[in-house]
Amino acid sequence: MDTNPTPGARDHAIRIDYLSGGERFATETFQVSITEHEDVNDVALKLARDSAYCNERVPALSCLFTIQSTDPDGPDGAPPGAGSPLISSVEPFDQAAAKPNTPPVLPQCPKCGDTDITRDASARWDRANQCWSLSAVYDNQTCENCGAEGNDLAIWVSLEPADRDDFLHAVADKLEDATLPDDPVFQLVIGAVHGTMTVDEAVREWGLANDIPE
Ligand SMILES: [Zn+2]
Repeated sequence: MDTNPTPGARDHAIRIDYLSGGERFATETFQVSITEHEDVNDVALKLARDSAYCNERVPALSCLFTIQSTDPDGPDGAPPGAGSPLISSVEPFDQAAAKPNTPPVLPQCPKCGDTDITRDASARWDRANQCWSLSAVYDNQTCENCGAEGNDLAIWVSLEPADRDDFLHAVADKLEDATLPDDPVFQLVIGAVHGTMTVDEAVREWGLANDIPE
């Protein structure tokens, strides 16, 4: 096109809000250059699907895309952010299209490493069920252990390994005791937290269980 001096690439800002049951639980933003052979919507969808937040365990997962041209030499000659088209669309994720076998994740405090993270939320009185029910979840997160807080405070850690025996061995390796996976008490205690604790947390759990005099 004669109106576009750089036809090879167009710059876009892509913001992706991840929703569970219509409530936003995470946001990511990307700056991307789109070649003339690519569709910015396809690129945005791929970014979302490659994200750790696109997890098949998230109930009623959907994504809200906000795509804005930031190309200073766009076809309209418009400066970035002014007069550029803003496209918003909800693309519900087919659960089957989400990453297969995505390992479960857990929010973790970047300051102290604790995983007891809470988020600000508001509740409304539910007349029909006669109880308070969650109506909105906000960005602000708080670590209940050290008090650190901020928007999108948490880092996301994997609960891998997904296999129970691999998990027992990973915990035993950290404890530097190769006999533990054959210990029935270890199997019971650590097997019970598989899928809900990280390897490091399970190591701590085992330490606590053994430090308590009984
Ligand atoms: Zn903390």
